[in-house]
Amino acid sequence: MKQIDESKLTPMMKQYYEIKKEYMDYILFYRLGDFYEMFFDDAVIASRELEITLTGRNCGLEERAPLCGIPHHAVDTYLKKLVDKGIKVAICEQVEDPATAKGIVKREVIRVITPGTVVDPEMLEDRAFNFVASICQEANRYGLAYCDITTGMFKVTQLDSENQMIDELLKVSPSEVIYSDAIELSSAVKEIAEQQDISLSPFLEHVFGEEPAQKTIERVLNIFSVESLGLNEWPVAMRASGALISYIEETAKVPLNHITHIDHYLQSKYMVLDKFTRRNLELTQTMRQKEKRGSLLWVLDKTSTAMGARKLRSWLEEPLLDVEMIKKRQDAVEVLLEDLLLRSDLTMFLKQIYDLERLVSKLVYGNINPRDFIALKQSLAVLPELKMRLSDISGESLSAIFDDIDTLTEVTDYIEKAIVDEPPFLLKDGGYIKTSYNEDLKAYREAITNGKTWLLNIENREKETTGIKNLKVGFNKVFGYYIEISKGSAKLAPETYVRKQTLANAERFITPELKEIEETLLGAEEKGIRLESVLFTQIKENVMQSIDRIQKTASAVAELDVLIAYAEVSYRYGYKRPKVSQSQTLSIKNGRHPVIERIFKETAFVPNDTLLDQRDNQFYIITGPNMAGKSTYLRQVALITLMAQIGCFVPADKAEIGVVDRIFTRVGASDDLSQGQSTFMVEMNELANILNNATHQSLIILDEIGRGTSTYDGLSIAWSVVEYIAKNSGKTLFATHYHELTELEGLVEGVKNYRIAVKEVHDDIIFLRKIEKGGANQSYGIQVAKLAGVPQPVIERAKDILSTLEANDINRNMSSLNASYVDNETGDKETTGKSTKGSQSTHAPETPPKPMLISDDNLDRLISDIKIDVMTPIEAMNTLYEIVTLYRNKKGE
Ligand code: ADP
Ligand code: MG
Repeated sequence: MKQIDESKLTPMMKQYYEIKKEYMDYILFYRLGDFYEMFFDDAVIASRELEITLTGRNCGLEERAPLCGIPHHAVDTYLKKLVDKGIKVAICEQVEDPATAKGIVKREVIRVITPGTVVDPEMLEDRAFNFVASICQEANRYGLAYCDITTGMFKVTQLDSENQMIDELLKVSPSEVIYSDAIELSSAVKEIAEQQDISLSPFLEHVFGEEPAQKTIERVLNIFSVESLGLNEWPVAMRASGALISYIEETAKVPLNHITHIDHYLQSKYMVLDKFTRRNLELTQTMRQKEKRGSLLWVLDKTSTAMGARKLRSWLEEPLLDVEMIKKRQDAVEVLLEDLLLRSDLTMFLKQIYDLERLVSKLVYGNINPRDFIALKQSLAVLPELKMRLSDISGESLSAIFDDIDTLTEVTDYIEKAIVDEPPFLLKDGGYIKTSYNEDLKAYREAITNGKTWLLNIENREKETTGIKNLKVGFNKVFGYYIEISKGSAKLAPETYVRKQTLANAERFITPELKEIEETLLGAEEKGIRLESVLFTQIKENVMQSIDRIQKTASAVAELDVLIAYAEVSYRYGYKRPKVSQSQTLSIKNGRHPVIERIFKETAFVPNDTLLDQRDNQFYIITGPNMAGKSTYLRQVALITLMAQIGCFVPADKAEIGVVDRIFTRVGASDDLSQGQSTFMVEMNELANILNNATHQSLIILDEIGRGTSTYDGLSIAWSVVEYIAKNSGKTLFATHYHELTELEGLVEGVKNYRIAVKEVHDDIIFLRKIEKGGANQSYGIQVAKLAGVPQPVIERAKDILSTLEANDINRNMSSLNASYVDNETGDKETTGKSTKGSQSTHAPETPPKPMLISDDNLDRLISDIKIDVMTPIEAMNTLYEIVTLYRNKKGE
C-alpha cells in the first residue's frame, strides 16, 4: 500500500487503516453492515481475482479509495477462490452491537484464512489432508513439521540435508509452508513451492527460537515437558513444531484443543520416494491428467470413510521398512480376507460413521452446529456394535485397533439428551435443544405453550361477549398480538379495545390483556433462544472434554477401514500375501500390473515372473519392441514391491519381497518442458539422483536412458551406468532400445538379459507380453509404425532405407568396442558378430579408426594425450584398443 496521510482519513478509514497495518500480507475483509468491504490495493487485487466491480469511496484523502465488496452470506465462495489462489485473507468483524456503540463500531480481526489453515468443510476435499508445514534450519540440519488442522494430525521429522528435506516436503505436499522471516529460502525450495502451488508464509523469527518453541508446545499440548514427547532430542524439529503451533494459533484464534500429540519420526522409518518416483509410479494421480483414476490409489481405495481414505493415502506415501510392522498389517488383512461376513458387517458399520476427525475440528473451531452433533452422535452410536463385532476375532491381529476404539457411550448419551433429533438448519430461531435438557428452558417453552392456549381462550371468550362471529386473534411483527374485526362489525367493538390499524376490510385492536400475554410470550421466546445459545456453548465445552478419545478412536477406525479395503481388493482382484523379509531377494510368480489389469479389463493381462537378487540376478537388461510391455513390466515390479511394504497383498500368485529402502525410477518421455527443462536435462537429473543415492538395498527402475541425445553419446552413458550400478547399487530393471547393451551379460557380474516376446507373422508382429531370457535382436520399429497407422508409402520407404543402412554396417564401431572385452587367450569372439539389426543406431557410420604408424613416438604421444577424466567410456575403450594394437604391432605380433 502506498504511503498515505493518515491524519486526513475519515474516522472509519482510520480504524480500517490501523487494522490493515497489522495484516499487510493479507486481504482484509472489513465488515460494514451486510458486506465485507476491501479498500486500496486489496480492492484492486480482489476485484481482479473475484471478478467483481471496483468502485471508489471518499476516505478523506484527495483521491477516492478503490473499493469493492462482497455480501457477507456469500463469503465462503469468495474465500475459496482467493485461498485456492494462495491468497491469505483476514476477516475483520464488528465486535460490538452497532445499536449501542458510541462512535465508530469496534472491529477486530477474528480469523485469518490461509491455504494451509482452512477449516470450512466446503473449502476442503474430504478424502485428502490439507497440510500446513513449517521448515526450520540449523546448519545442515532441517526440521520439518506439518499439521492437518482440521484433524489435529501433527507430525515432525528432522533431516540431514536439504535434498532429504525437499523429498519429504514433496511427500507431505502441503498447501502452505511457513519459515522464519529472518531467513531467505533457498532457490530450490522456492522453485518447488512455485511448481507445487505451495503458498509461502514468512512468520515471526522469534517463535522459531528453541525456548519459545518449547514453551508453546508445552502450553498447547498441555504437557509438563517436551521430554515426554521425546522432542528434546530433536531441537530443530522442536523449533519447527513450536513455530507451526504459534502460526496456527495466530490464524485460528481459538484454543487448539485437538492438537494432542506430536508424532516425530525418522525418514529412515519409511521407504523414501523421491519426487520422480512418486510421479512415475502414479501412486495417487496419473502423470498426464493428474487424475486419481488410473493411479494405484484409485485401485486400492475401497475405504468407506473419509478418515480411511486419508489414512490410505498416507500409507501409500509412506511404505514401511520394518518387517514386523508390515506383517502386523498383513495378519489383519488375512483375517479380514478370510471372513467375508465379518468384512461385510464391519463395512456396514463403517459406512455409518461420518468424518469424526473433521467433526472434532468443527468443535474446536466453534463452527459446529446442532446437525453436526447429530452426525457425531449417530457415528459414535455405531462404535459399541463395531467393537463387539471386533471382539469376535481371536488372535492378535486386530487387537490394537480393538483397544484403541473407545465406545464413547457417555458422549453419545449426552448428545442424545441435549440435542433434538432433527435440529433446524438455522440457529437463530432456536428449537435445537431438547426441552428436557434444562429446567429454565422447559419453563420458557411451557410459558409459550400456555400463552398460545390463553390466546385461544381469549378469542373464544371475546367472540362470545361481543357477539362478533368473525373476531379473531392474530399476530404481526409491527403491532404484536391484536384482535381483528371485519369492517362491518367494527362498530360493535367494546370501549376497552384500542384501535391500532385499519385495513381495507378490517380493523385491528389491542387490549391491555393481550399486551400482557404478548410480553410473557415474546419474552419467553427471546429468553429461550438466548438460553439455548448459552446451553449450546456448554454442550460444546462438555463434548470437548472427550476430544482426545474421539481422535484416538477415529484413527483406529481409519486404520480398520484401510485394512478392510486391502482385504476387499485382495478378495476382488485375487491378490496374495507376499512373504516379506529382510533378505535381498525379490521373487514374484505371475505378477501383474495392478492398474493396467483394471483399466483394460477386456484383454486378459499376461502375468510375468521376476527373480532379482544381489548376486547373479541383480540387473535385468530388458529389450523388445515398442509396445511390447517393457514399461508395464518395470512398473509392475516396483508397484508390487511398494504394495508389499504398505502391508497390502499383491497382484501375483506368490511373492517374496526382501524389503527395499528406496525405489528409484527413471522413466522416459516425462517431458518437463512446461518447467523449462529439456527432456534430456530432466533425464540426467533423475539419473544423477539415482546414482548418488541408491544403495544395495534399493530397487531401481530405468525405463530408457540416454535417448534424446546422439546415439553414441546415449549408448555410452547407458553402458557406463549399467557398469556403475551393477557394482555400487541394488536390484535394477533396465528397459532399453540399445541392443548393444545385451553384450554386457557375462561381462558384468549380475547382469541378465531378458526380452519381451513377440511373434512375427509375415510382415506383422503379435505381442505375446511374456518376458523370457535372452536379448531381442530387432526393434520392429517399422512394424509398430505400421500398426499405428503410418501411411504405407512411408513404411515402404523406411524399409528401403533400413536395408541400405544395414548394408553399410553401422555397428562396426560397436564391434570394435566389444572386442576389447574379448578373451585373448581363446580368441573367442562369439559375442561380437551378433546382429543388431534395426537398433536405434541410425546415425551415419563413423569412419573406423585409421591404422596408426607404428613407433614409440606414437605410443608416447597417444598416452600423454589421454585425458581420463573427460573421456566417455567408449572413447576410453577405443583408446585402450589403439594402445594395445600399437603395442602388439610394435612387438611384431
Ligand atoms: P513398451 O514400454 O514396451 O513400449 P508398454 O509397457 O507401454 O510397452 O505396453 C504397451 C501396452 O501393452 C500397455 O499399455 C498395455 O495395454 C499392454 N500391456 C503391457 N503389458 C501387458 C501384459 N502383461 N498383459 C496385457 N497387456 C499388456
Ligand atoms: Mg515403454
